Amino acid sequence: MRALRAIFRKVMDTVFLRRCKICNSIIAEEGERHICMGCWRNITLIGKPLCSCCGKPLQISYDLSEGLNDYICGTCREKHPIFDSARSICRYDGVLKELIHVYKYNRVKSLGNDFVSLIIDHIKSGNAIHPRPNIIMYVPLHRGKLKERGFDQSYILARGIGNYLNIPLITDNLSKSMETEPQVKLSGNERLRNVRGAFMVKKPDEIRKINLLLIDDVFTTGTTVNECAGVLKRAGTARVDVLTLARTV
Ligand SMILES: [Zn+2]
Ligand SMILES: [Zn+2]
Repeated sequence: MRALRAIFRKVMDTVFLRRCKICNSIIAEEGERHICMGCWRNITLIGKPLCSCCGKPLQISYDLSEGLNDYICGTCREKHPIFDSARSICRYDGVLKELIHVYKYNRVKSLGNDFVSLIIDHIKSGNAIHPRPNIIMYVPLHRGKLKERGFDQSYILARGIGNYLNIPLITDNLSKSMETEPQVKLSGNERLRNVRGAFMVKKPDEIRKINLLLIDDVFTTGTTVNECAGVLKRAGTARVDVLTLARTV
């Protein structure tokens, strides 16, 4: 049966050649990936040392990494984010930036699975999420945007992470009640104004006193996830740890 399935896949791959979404080369290897190994390797993962709060990679040229586990960056010391921690898997540049663009704006929903495997590989390699959350939520799209795109990119990531970690995902509690501009286009203060009051919690009882992992696709300045963390904490959530696929560095 397995042999038959392998032959079937080979035939399908030959008839419908799978091509890399980035460089258009034929994907020869087994599996469901939508990008070739060459492009996959060009994705820059984010490693230590990091700001222990916002997860910003630190630029240090000498070996101080051991003593930097509790280091907090200047921005976090000044602004005191509401979220308890934020971590991202890779840099929002090059191949990954292009892929996220294809995912969201060309609406290639299946790329979500590639992103989930990237995130899970990172968690498996010791970049554990700590402390273990009770519940997973994600930064939702506004209803209008969801209708236009056909899927919520962060929901797909959150569902994959929840399945892997075996942690329940809540999909209908945090909602976006207001359409906003894409944060990437705006400056610092405009970003703040853009998302203020845009999110609401529908059922505070469900998230009271729990540790929550909040998933989003891209962390730019953290304004959006911080706004969500504020709404969640006012509703009684004990901890909000943020995990995003990518972040601008
Ligand atoms: Zn490629
Ligand atoms: Zn920081």
